[in-house]
Amino acid sequence: MTVPIAIIGAGPAGITAAVQLRRSGIEFLLLEKSRAGGLLNEANCVENFPGVPGGVAGRLLATRLKRQLAAAGIQIKKARVTHLAYDDRRFTLCTERETLTAARVILACGTVPLPPGPPLDTENLRGRLFAGVLPLLKARGETIAIIGGGDAACDYALSLVGNNEVHILVRSRRPRALPLLVDRCRRLGVVWHENFRLTRAEVLAGEAGMVLHARDAHGEDTGGILCQRLLTAIGREPALGFLAPELRAALPELAARKAVFLAGDVGNGGFRQAAIAAAGGLRAAMEIHEGGSRCT
Ligand SMILES: Cc1cc2nc3c(=O)[nH]c(=O)nc-3n(C[C@H](O)[C@H](O)[C@H](O)COP(=O)(O)OP(=O)(O)OC[C@H]3O[C@@H](n4cnc5c(N)ncnc54)[C@H](O)[C@@H]3O)c2cc1C
Repeated sequence: MTVPIAIIGAGPAGITAAVQLRRSGIEFLLLEKSRAGGLLNEANCVENFPGVPGGVAGRLLATRLKRQLAAAGIQIKKARVTHLAYDDRRFTLCTERETLTAARVILACGTVPLPPGPPLDTENLRGRLFAGVLPLLKARGETIAIIGGGDAACDYALSLVGNNEVHILVRSRRPRALPLLVDRCRRLGVVWHENFRLTRAEVLAGEAGMVLHARDAHGEDTGGILCQRLLTAIGREPALGFLAPELRAALPELAARKAVFLAGDVGNGGFRQAAIAAAGGLRAAMEIHEGGSRCT
């Protein structure tokens, strides 16, 4: 199959691009590997998206975006793009089932969590270590530790604390998160451990969980924290692992020629917010419309 435009990712950026392309009468294919709405599905409460006074649960905002797609008659193709290459002025997209070609691509594929490094041994902690909150939302009466002191760590804690005991472990002396989120966590009983330098995660037999050992800023043993689950919120990187190396190297040139667009978190560095992502998708679609259906 050949399409004029392929949009990879149906988070806020990809959905907004799709809605605008449909308004412009431009044909496209929207591909999503898992949940439409993207990372919004993980967000406890989104308070900074325009037009939602009082905030909205991330999952509800994701549902509204999906409804907007349906209202515009846009269907999502459920597929993971496993390889993307550029040759002879066209893109080749491989999914698990087929190969497609496209004249232009909107990369709206967001970010992936940074992998935890030592001392965490992912093999040893299999089933106990998580990089996103969704698999933990049904947890009840567990002790869950979260590594990271940013907004995402607080947001995860707020999703979990009603039903579980939640600890946030921060390396630095102070959390980096917005003070309002930190206060909210403290008020709801989230336990903060500052100056927490993890040295070892000791897995206990059976369902007993693990003990997290750490040293403080002076190198003193802080005593262990017993928990059942460990969640990392230690940063994210662009989800571009499926790009052919030559395409990756040529991205700036192809972006300048408006053959490829980086829309949303994938190209926004530390400015990872839904409204900014949506604006990126909108802009990509408008640039495509303005430039006509061909790239330069
Ligand atoms: C815990 C948490 C709380 C947050 N709270 C807020 C908040 O309060 N306010 C706010 O504005 N923002 C918040 N955010 C950030 C917000 O969710 C993101 O900025 C926004 O979702 C980014 O949109 P996006 O479309 O660029 O990427 P994403 O939402 O990450 O969507 C990318 C989509 O692409 C898909 N995809 C990736 N690779 C492929 C592939 N190879 N093939 C097919 N599909 C693919 C993914 O499955 C995903 O659905 C929060 C994020 C988190 C994690």
